[in-house]
Amino acid sequence: MTNIQGIAASSGIAIAKAYQLVTPSLNYEKKTVENVDKEIERLDDALDISKQELEKIKAHTKKELGDEHAEIFSAHLLVLSDPELINPMKEKIKSDNVVAEAALEETANMFIDMFKNMDNEYMRERAADIQDVTKRVMAHLIGVTFPDPALIDEEVIVIANDLTPSDTAQLNRQFVKGFATDIGGRTSHSAIMARSLEIPAVVGTKEVTQSIQQDDMLIVDGIEGVVIVNPSDEELKAYQEKQENFAKQKEEWAKLKDEPSLSKDGEQVELAANIGTPEDVVGVLDNGGEGIGLYRTEFLYMGKSALPTEEEQYEAYKSVLEQMNDKPVVVRTLDIGGDKELSYLDLPEELNPFLGFRAIRFCLENEDIFRTQLRALLRASVHGNLKIMFPMIATLEEFRQAKALLLDEKENLKNEGKDVSDSIEIGIMVEIPSTAVIAKQFAKEVDFFSIGTNDLIQYTMAADRMNEQVSYLYQPYHPAILNLVNNVIEAAHSEGKWAGMCGEMAGDSIAIPILLGLGLDEFSMSATSILPARTQIRGLSKEKMESYKDKILSMGTAEEVMEFVKEKTE
Ligand code: PEP
Ligand code: MG
Repeated sequence: MTNIQGIAASSGIAIAKAYQLVTPSLNYEKKTVENVDKEIERLDDALDISKQELEKIKAHTKKELGDEHAEIFSAHLLVLSDPELINPMKEKIKSDNVVAEAALEETANMFIDMFKNMDNEYMRERAADIQDVTKRVMAHLIGVTFPDPALIDEEVIVIANDLTPSDTAQLNRQFVKGFATDIGGRTSHSAIMARSLEIPAVVGTKEVTQSIQQDDMLIVDGIEGVVIVNPSDEELKAYQEKQENFAKQKEEWAKLKDEPSLSKDGEQVELAANIGTPEDVVGVLDNGGEGIGLYRTEFLYMGKSALPTEEEQYEAYKSVLEQMNDKPVVVRTLDIGGDKELSYLDLPEELNPFLGFRAIRFCLENEDIFRTQLRALLRASVHGNLKIMFPMIATLEEFRQAKALLLDEKENLKNEGKDVSDSIEIGIMVEIPSTAVIAKQFAKEVDFFSIGTNDLIQYTMAADRMNEQVSYLYQPYHPAILNLVNNVIEAAHSEGKWAGMCGEMAGDSIAIPILLGLGLDEFSMSATSILPARTQIRGLSKEKMESYKDKILSMGTAEEVMEFVKEKTE
């Protein structure tokens, strides 16, 4: 057996065999052939089997995620049946006497290049479709297996270099018991999704895809951040026990589901949840969430072949608001870019995507896309307690511009005779240091702040949140971070506004006592962290934590802060 150390990304213990989700090499030997009919037959066979697989994936996606997510596979199936694409491949085999692989690659590339450079967005999407499906056909021609997370039909632990948010969304919860990746950190989106799917996960191991073979027996310990490969009988037994204890602990936490989030000295805070889809709301309510502190709307835009319409968005927002039944719901407008890509928008490749054209920067440049979302949100506002916030605000001008567009759309809707709530709070995410530093100026204009520490830490410490090589610098308890957080909370309170936190730090057991002492009003976290957090807060005195505030803020290192908090809260 081998133990592989990584970062604990989603708690729990999973025991199952490995499923390698690794794209195989698609290299082939470019040679000429005598028997062209045989090559054409090989191509036809590869096309047929690819179509059968896509039909299965489409049916599965439709069942698990609904029609709109399945749509992309209909587009892929159309590509594989399109004579305008397939006939030239066969012609090429006949005229150039090349292997089917070469005919497939060269013809597909010709169409991809042609479509990619067109002005028409629909045609650019076709380029992405062709690229995707030809990989599958190529794998069949070469004789290698192309992994399909949606087709998994037995209990497995998925092993991958990284899982994109759309890969993670496709994982079948019934069979995928856990996952482990080479790259990523606690705040990478695959980790965040794992927590909302309640799947144990370990990320940033640097080596799982190298060290683990298909079908190896694995234990993923998402509490300690370890993957055990081919465990001994004793280890297996010990982990089965740990798994049972974790289940018992969860039962204990569950007793607080309907209890208020009160500190020992009777001070109330709000414990809310971060979600990615309307389907996540069930988990929030099951875990005693008092609100939604962050609805990451970008998942509505991902895993699809085109932008979601106003109507589709309206339905999603309405569903979340109605399910939450007048509890607060903070919806964040589109935060695309960074590690969240939209293939159909064909955004330019950037050297530093996390510092690039993303989130509000993208929305203010693409007003039509932004206005569609704002209209959907405004229309949904009558179905519950909606608050809207803008991501990645770096300047007051950006906030003013975004707010003006929101108010403009509100006016338009009213003129069209549509109902819009008049009590929507408008806030911002504080995740860029410039905004945290001048929070006082912002507090005069916004209704609330939600501190996005996942990004605030990476920008303050200049340490990429996805890069495990610099993860030692990713320090939530660093005094620089705590001083910025304090600045934001004080600024909000001085203007009578509220301050929340929706970065992962809000659910961290060392950070919680500090944040309680700094006066944070709302803590928004993965749904599964809510009950442990409530248990912890009920054992803490807010007044006592407040009395440590100046001391903590004047400390020099994260280590000192951590030691101090541990000592005082034992
Ligand atoms: C954050 O940056 O803290 C945050 C909550 O947003 P995201 O993780 O989606 O970037
Ligand atoms: Mg962020």
